Amino acid sequence: MPSRSTVWTSSWSWGAITKFNLPQGWQRAARRAVLLVALAAAVIVVRRWVHHAELESVPVIVPSNVPPQTIVHPPAAAIARRMLREVRETFFPPRRPRLAVLTFDDGPYPVETPLLLAQLQALDVPAVFFVIGRDVRRQPAIAARARLAHVELGNHTATHPEMAALPLEEQQAEIAQGARDIAAVTGVRVRYFRPPHGNYDAATILAARAEGETMALWDVDPGDWRTIPTHQIIANVIMHARSPAVILLHNGKLATIEALPDIVAAYRAAGFTFVTLSQLQARLPLSEINDPLPVRLPLPAAPASSVGEHNP
Ligand SMILES: [Zn+2]
Repeated sequence: MPSRSTVWTSSWSWGAITKFNLPQGWQRAARRAVLLVALAAAVIVVRRWVHHAELESVPVIVPSNVPPQTIVHPPAAAIARRMLREVRETFFPPRRPRLAVLTFDDGPYPVETPLLLAQLQALDVPAVFFVIGRDVRRQPAIAARARLAHVELGNHTATHPEMAALPLEEQQAEIAQGARDIAAVTGVRVRYFRPPHGNYDAATILAARAEGETMALWDVDPGDWRTIPTHQIIANVIMHARSPAVILLHNGKLATIEALPDIVAAYRAAGFTFVTLSQLQARLPLSEINDPLPVRLPLPAAPASSVGEHNP
């Protein structure tokens, strides 16, 4: 009988299994079970690694003191630190105020944006509009009204290009022109920049920094840009709640406007306060904003809006 002591590290479980003198069939089943558990553990670790690598490379608010390459391609040590933090936070959940930011990309648009502003006002919630410079010039009156409402204006470029496909100078020109358009029409000097479709590379981060703007992404994405039904938007925003929650929504979508009352009610019922991005940064350190914790929120039992009207 071969000595198992020399291969103890890799086969201790086999030793443990055979030591009990189990019948052959049982031994085979036990070995299979150990292999399955090891395989499942490996799959979980790999999946969490991929998840954390993505979070590390898509921060909610891009820190100003981290090299752009490190954000686009996070080092293994940063991913490992995030995984360890997740384990720690599972056993010792940190306490933090529940804050949520409603962000709306694109526009302003002549029909939907006034409706969205009226809805936000009726719900008494602040929001952030990442507007496109070209559309601000086309709709100056609406852009100016957004400024008067409790809306923080952010820069979404001048013409909404795919930023990562452009060289650094063109990316910087897009950001600079977007900021100029917004300032010319509303008098607002923007603080935050969001790249179209959330696509960026290291040059985008450099360009935003050169223009004195902070790049802001999100941590809750219900996919409302795909024109999905209202009840689906509500369910997605509620099921993927985070603390803090920076929610990506879109200007120009009637279903999104309809979804807002149920979203706001569900978050408020769970103790969330709605704020702007500037207010979020004033209340929480970047380490917490970029480490959003999942929050379990109950789905509304019978939403007043369009649940039920999209039955297959
Ligand atoms: Zn956009």
